[in-house]
Amino acid sequence: MPLFYSNISSSLVPVSCYSSASLSNRPIRYAVLGAGFAGLSVAWHLLNCSSKKLDVCIDIYDQVGIGGGASGVAGGLLHPYSPKVKLLWRGAECWKESLDLLNVAEGALFKLVNGGNQDSPPNSEPSIVNRRGILRPALSSKNIDLMSSNAENCLTGCRIESIHEDAAQGLVPDISVPLNLAFYMPEALSINSQCYLEALYLACENLAEDMSKVGVARKELSLHKKSVENLLELSGEYDAIIICLGARAAFLPELSGRLPLRMCRGLVTRLQLTNDLRKDYPKYSPSILSDAWLSVQGARSMHMGSTWEWKSTNYSRDVSVEEATKAMEVLLPKASAVYPPIKEWTITGAMAGLRAMPPLTADGSLPILGCIDNLIHGGNNGGCKYWLFTGLGARGLLFHGWLGKLMAQAVLSCDEGLIPSELTSWKYEMQQQ
Ligand SMILES: Cc1cc2nc3c(=O)[nH]c(=O)nc-3n(C[C@H](O)[C@H](O)[C@H](O)COP(=O)(O)OP(=O)(O)OC[C@H]3O[C@@H](n4cnc5c(N)ncnc54)[C@H](O)[C@@H]3O)c2cc1C
Repeated sequence: MPLFYSNISSSLVPVSCYSSASLSNRPIRYAVLGAGFAGLSVAWHLLNCSSKKLDVCIDIYDQVGIGGGASGVAGGLLHPYSPKVKLLWRGAECWKESLDLLNVAEGALFKLVNGGNQDSPPNSEPSIVNRRGILRPALSSKNIDLMSSNAENCLTGCRIESIHEDAAQGLVPDISVPLNLAFYMPEALSINSQCYLEALYLACENLAEDMSKVGVARKELSLHKKSVENLLELSGEYDAIIICLGARAAFLPELSGRLPLRMCRGLVTRLQLTNDLRKDYPKYSPSILSDAWLSVQGARSMHMGSTWEWKSTNYSRDVSVEEATKAMEVLLPKASAVYPPIKEWTITGAMAGLRAMPPLTADGSLPILGCIDNLIHGGNNGGCKYWLFTGLGARGLLFHGWLGKLMAQAVLSCDEGLIPSELTSWKYEMQQQ
């Protein structure tokens, strides 16, 4: 069986373990279920890491379309730290790979807007990423020493500066800093999640087209707006099926009751400055993290979130007036405690999504990944057909880039060992229960 090595990605990954496809000259076919952060990251990396010499066909299935689940409603805050500003597990790799994917998506959007020119037009504000940093005022004296020492161990690419109230007010006029200490992350980002996902899909299409032009093999990518009710309905058609359904992976009949996930519905409100007398939110003022967060999306637009409704199974993004009213009663006092002018903003909408919260481990709450043939077949098929990538919790933007790359490399080479054991150990823990 030939092994092809990718010369496109930086690491050499053995590609194509699907001998029947390579011998019969038919393309290797992958189904990616879900077009959220996880699914689109996997699709991009499957294309980018596959050999130029290999025909690859990727079908993405999503019931709603791009960003149809939690990813499309996410507040868009991206940084590699815990609420106590501690660097998260493998934060450096996750941060770097998420930035790389954001660049890829921005490049595709600029190319679209500029008719082929990938460079950013001068002075134009990109609509995917707001590069304004994030400010977190300290709210409790209990963890202040711990937070200050955590902040000292920050990444050089995403710094944390401990600042006092006057400096914080220089960044965000009118901000309230009750304990005279705030943590400022100048490189942290606020993303327009839906716009990012659409641009990332566009980037995948462009990559498939470009690779087909320069290589000797064809790369095909299709998006099917279709609900997948069970895994067996696709089993005959694909060499591998990668399940990136977020919380709804646990709703598949084959996986129901078998994943260590807890569900948590969250609601985000959209706010606008509609009063013409009120000045714009300053151009370089950061987003704000507190018990509620304010994710700045533009001079007169922000998202405020989010609620935490544990054990909910409601994945609908639609929000009733009653649910929105209840959420505002929770969020507004929290947000106005640190940013009182928020009361002058007008609510223009609300959306919700279901988070797939993974178990807490010694390394924190980590997504769950791996080949799940054993779960599906009881270990009898001997292949690497079904793969799972879910449990991104409340940190999908941070985790999706690097873990999507590892997942794609593992699928391409049929080698689960490429995925860190911290992310696959859930399977063995489930077996022992
Ligand atoms: C209110 C809220 C705010 C958040 N804010 C942030 C934030 O600021 N920063 C951050 O990093 N993370 C945030 N998150 C978390 C983040 O949204 C998730 O971690 C992430 O979206 C999970 O991505 P995913 O691709 O695994 O799942 P999803 O985005 O849920 O994607 C799953 C996809 O599968 C599709 N699907 C589901 N079932 C089927 C089926 N049977 N057939 C076909 N398709 C199906 C869905 O339509 C959906 O598009 C937030 C989450 C919520 C709910």
